[in-house]
Amino acid sequence: MDEKRNFTGAVDLHLHSLASDGTLSPAEVVEAAARNGVCVMALTDHETTLGIPAAMLAGQEWRVEVIPGIEMTVEEGEELHLLGYFIDFEYPLLQETLLVLRRRRAERAHRILQILSGMGMDLEWASIGVQTWNSIGRPHVARALHSAGYVSSPKEAFDRYLDPGRPAYVHLPRPSAPEVIEMIRGAGGVAALAHPIILGRDDPAQRLRHIASILPRLRAAGLEGIESYYPEYPPELTRSLVELADATGLVPTGGSDFHGPSPRREGPGGIAVPYVSVERLRAKASLLEMKVDSPEIARRR
Ligand code: AMP
Ligand code: MN
Ligand code: MN
Ligand code: MN
Repeated sequence: MDEKRNFTGAVDLHLHSLASDGTLSPAEVVEAAARNGVCVMALTDHETTLGIPAAMLAGQEWRVEVIPGIEMTVEEGEELHLLGYFIDFEYPLLQETLLVLRRRRAERAHRILQILSGMGMDLEWASIGVQTWNSIGRPHVARALHSAGYVSSPKEAFDRYLDPGRPAYVHLPRPSAPEVIEMIRGAGGVAALAHPIILGRDDPAQRLRHIASILPRLRAAGLEGIESYYPEYPPELTRSLVELADATGLVPTGGSDFHGPSPRREGPGGIAVPYVSVERLRAKASLLEMKVDSPEIARRR
C-alpha cells in the first residue's frame, strides 16, 4: 500500500459515461467527480471499456485515481448486473466478447424502434446513435421517446414501453454470471454484484433472502464483492448488505451509478463508500495477478 497516497477524498466505484448510457464524456465524468471531492473512481460503462483511456488521462489532470471498470448484464434465471474492477481492458477475450454483446445491443435497439414504429411512434436511428459512442441501451431509446414528445419523461418510457412485460421490451441473450466472472478474472480483475436490491421493484427483505441464497454459487464462481452503498439505500439496508458481505467473505462496494447530472439523483461521490473497500479490491486483484496457476493469465505473461 502506498502510504503517501492522499486518502482524504470520496470514493465512487460506479459511474457511466457517453461510452454507454451516461450523458457526460469520460473526461467530464472525471471532472464532475473531482469537483465533488472524489479521489478514487471507477468508470463502469455497460459492456464497453472505450471510455477508460480518456477517463484515465483526465484522472491524471484532476488527480483522481481512475480504476478501469465495467458493468455487465448476466442471465442467471433472472437479470443480474456485475461490476468488474482493475480489469486489463486490452485482454483480447474480453474485447471479443464485448464486441459481440454490443452488436446484439445495437440489433435490439433496431428491433425496439421497429416495434415502436408499429405502435405509431417513429424515431430516427440517428436520435439513438448521437447519444452514445459505443454501447447502445434502452435509456437511449427512452430519451429519444422523451425528446420526440411521446412520453413526458424517460422514466415514463420505461414504465410504459421498455421495461420487461411492456410492449417494446426485447429480451437480449446474455452470458451467465460464471462466464462473465471468469472473464473478468481472466482480465486480471475482480467482480462484484451490482445493486443487489432495486428499490421500487423489489421487496427489500424478500430480495435480501433471495440474494443470500444465490451468493454462495456466485462466490464459488469467483465473485469477490457486493454493492452495498448505493443511492437511496437506507442505512439499515446497507448494514444488512455489509453483514451479508462479511458473512460470505465478499468486499462491500458502492457508488452513485451516475448517468449524468440529474436533479433527482446523487452526483459522483454522493454515496459514502469506505476507502478500505478499494484497498481490499486492489489486494484481491493483485493477488490474482500473482497467481501462476491460471492458464489465461499465464498465457499473457
Ligand atoms: P439495457 O442495458 O439496455 O437493458 O438498459 C438498462 C439500463 O437502463 C440500466 O442500466 C439503467 O440505466 C436503465 N434502466 C433500467 N430500467 C429502468 C427503469 N425502469 N427506469 C429507468 N431507467 C431504467
Ligand atoms: Mn445504465
Ligand atoms: Mn446496473
Ligand atoms: Mn450502472
